[in-house]
Amino acid sequence: MKTTIEWTHRHLPDGTIIPGYTFNIAWGCMKVSEECRNCYAEGIASRYGMRLWGPQATTTRRTFGSTHWQKPLSWNREAEREGHRRSVFCSSMADVFEDHPTLEPEREKLWRLIARTPWLNWLLLTKRPEHILSMAPWQDGTWPDNVWIGVSAGNQRRANERLPLLIQIPAVVRFVSYEPALERVDFTPWVQQIDWLICGGESGALARPFDLDWARSARGQCQRAGVKFFFKQVGGRYHNSGGRLLDGRTRDELPPEKPEHVMGNVTTKTRIDTRKR
Ligand code: SF4
Repeated sequence: MKTTIEWTHRHLPDGTIIPGYTFNIAWGCMKVSEECRNCYAEGIASRYGMRLWGPQATTTRRTFGSTHWQKPLSWNREAEREGHRRSVFCSSMADVFEDHPTLEPEREKLWRLIARTPWLNWLLLTKRPEHILSMAPWQDGTWPDNVWIGVSAGNQRRANERLPLLIQIPAVVRFVSYEPALERVDFTPWVQQIDWLICGGESGALARPFDLDWARSARGQCQRAGVKFFFKQVGGRYHNSGGRLLDGRTRDELPPEKPEHVMGNVTTKTRIDTRKR
């Protein structure tokens, strides 16, 4: 479905902003780290009366039928008609790389779907980067250029664990979600090898504190490395409680893309690097 998540927007050369989509291969997950404490997806599932969070021994995952899986094909056709790609955040209600048996056939469907939708950029964001290379079907040199890979890192411990794994992935765009930001993080050991960093504070009734100096620090690290920086939100009781300004302005930078990636025409991975060295 269409989403208001700003970092899934795409900016056309003429300044037009086009919204992105979210697509879920499943609902359900298991908490793996501090960022997950107030998992909003678990809250949504609970409101529908679904208990989908926990280990595979005691919980299953919700999967979807063919009508659901057809939707990205229609988005792809629409994007092709319009002549520019759209972004799809996959999966906001699960983790594509979770090691749960219910997800195995769903992942296989996803890989086939990605191959059939060259007008969609698939943004796969995970807290389990240790599984990416073994679960993804592509070998080095054959990664499709409509797959962007991201990891979440809200604190230094998870950055230390996950970013070294992220930078091994030969995706056309590698990104970091520093959200919810839980402390100041030094990204400098890896920042030269990523393309984009999204930063934001937590939102919700149990939102943990956020210090704008953490965002300023991340922004500075990105600027020095020539990496795109996106400031999503200050956070608070509601997602828009604190607004989206950092030092008086929005920061909506998106990763650089080749013109043919904006316009479709997927072949295989071609990492681009327009950053300063
Ligand atoms: S990995 Fe994502 S979906 Fe899974 S529990 Fe953590 S925050 Fe929720």
